Amino acid sequence: MNERRAKNTIDLLVLEGDGIGPEIMAATLAVLRAADAKFDLGLAFETAAVGWAAHRATGTTLPPTVMDKAKAADGVLLGPVSHNEYPPIAEGGRNPSGELRKGLDLYANIRPARSREGFPPRCGKPVDLVIVRENTEGFYADRSMFLGSGEFMPTPDLALAVRKITRLGSTRIAESAFKLAMQRRKKVTAVHKSNVLRVSDGLFLECVRAVAARYGQVQYEERIIDAMAALLVRDASPFDVVVTTNMYGDILSDEASEISGSLGLAASLNAGDAHGVAQAQHGSAPDIAGKNIANPASLIGSAAMLLAWLGERRGEKKLVEAAQAIEAALDAAIADPNTRTRDLGGPLGTDAFGKRVGELVAAG
Ligand code: ATP
Repeated sequence: MNERRAKNTIDLLVLEGDGIGPEIMAATLAVLRAADAKFDLGLAFETAAVGWAAHRATGTTLPPTVMDKAKAADGVLLGPVSHNEYPPIAEGGRNPSGELRKGLDLYANIRPARSREGFPPRCGKPVDLVIVRENTEGFYADRSMFLGSGEFMPTPDLALAVRKITRLGSTRIAESAFKLAMQRRKKVTAVHKSNVLRVSDGLFLECVRAVAARYGQVQYEERIIDAMAALLVRDASPFDVVVTTNMYGDILSDEASEISGSLGLAASLNAGDAHGVAQAQHGSAPDIAGKNIANPASLIGSAAMLLAWLGERRGEKKLVEAAQAIEAALDAAIADPNTRTRDLGGPLGTDAFGKRVGELVAAG
């Protein structure tokens, strides 16, 4: 599938990934094609292999040409990858997700959790929040260093992990959070553990506070990570934009998405100044792979986020409208118990759900 056109196109690189990746990507492409036809977006898709498929073909899970293609594309659609199962780097096992985040400097991982009409939250009141997760540093030892790893074993019985927090990383993620809050309910919650990690989370908070001081219209508060985990379960509805470091954001966003309904609804966008990568929040779900039962809403919603991001950057209203239409179609499909996937108690398979959302986009 190589549909690159010479001009006036939006070139999207499609990386299916592992596990449920190919299935949820196929459903997502069906929806994008429907949006393309309706809004005349000029989408052009080019597919490349990453993960096990790439390893079988080329001996590495992330061929170097993929990074080049990702840099050249207008945007990337990335399916989940089973990097936990990959062989060591020396045997070709590279983490496409981590390397794309680092290689494209995708410092903001935007992870919404929103209850859908007709589907009650798993606990508490309906939720509508966005976790803005720093995406390039923190405790992610495999990618946070310029050279080498942030995790090492000086002796066979001593393992150390270095957590990296920088002024630049903290400031730019705070900027992303406050800008987003200005388009929403104008509230930012910074999540930290500065009572223990006094120096590193101290620096993070110092940077967030400096940005907060420039956004007088935005209500600002701080919560400690452990209390935040409990508060989300008690009642996630008061939260709007939540800004936090890499690993706290990863964990809290799974919690928030599940509260909103299912990990299968969990969309996300990895965004930097120059590149955007749509990627569901969840992993490759090997337990349900190949059965046509995964919920593709997560990747469909991620693709919608990418279209909206592209639309804002390029000043192209139709891209933003297409993103809104996809979101509305997801809402409508999920609102009807007969057009839900199995994780939400419904009867539809992955492909049938994608087809339904595509039809709703076309009809909308
Ligand atoms: P990985 O090792 O790639 O992270 P995992 O199975 O450990 O995979 P997830 O893929 O995040 O972790 O899955 C966690 C749970 O959520 C699994 O039970 C999985 O089946 C379920 N799940 C994840 N994504 C979806 C989805 N899109 N639709 C339905 N269920 C999902």
